[in-house]
Amino acid sequence: MIKFSINGEELEVEPGTTIIRAAEKFGIEIPRFCWHPALSIAGNCRMCLVKIEKNPKLQPACNTTAAEGMMVSTDTEEVREAVRGVLEFILINHPLDCPICDQAGECWLQNYYMQYGLYKSRFAERKVKKGKVMDIGRGIKLDQERCILCARCVRFMKEIAQSEELAIFKRGNRVELNTFPGKGLQSPYSCNIVDICPVGALT
Ligand code: SF4
Repeated sequence: MIKFSINGEELEVEPGTTIIRAAEKFGIEIPRFCWHPALSIAGNCRMCLVKIEKNPKLQPACNTTAAEGMMVSTDTEEVREAVRGVLEFILINHPLDCPICDQAGECWLQNYYMQYGLYKSRFAERKVKKGKVMDIGRGIKLDQERCILCARCVRFMKEIAQSEELAIFKRGNRVELNTFPGKGLQSPYSCNIVDICPVGALT
């Protein structure tokens, strides 16, 4: 077993356990969008950054393995500032339609904004417009503007449904989730992506 600490609390975990899994096991909350226990690690949302003693940069808890004697902090001002920055970046082009969103308050973006964000918006430009109410097959509708590009649905289709039917296309602020050209969702498992999406992008 490996002995290490999170926020001063001594923990013992199996070798090879990631920090986010260890925290989960001991009831310590680390924010996340892209990480899901049943899926491969993407490490793309950067919400789970934590401070590791003697490491000059914050590290993603989803992709960092606990090591003997490691001292991890999840609730320092530096970590909270980083999470606030990630939220501000995600919300640049995210529509502020919470009152009419299909997620109806069951939204991790909304929850984390209330918990870590609460900043005053500095964004004065126009938000980038993307597809709304797109019929992507099997009765599922996609709102590309609400999608935060965590790729949970993409990985679910590839790894669990074993049917690669979704992908992230384009670059920069035009980047978007979609099905492949001329094709829609086919897999009978595809309805699960509605639940796995942390925001209201899939209904
Ligand atoms: Fe993530 Fe939802 Fe976007 Fe899929 S639709 S990438 S699950 S936010």
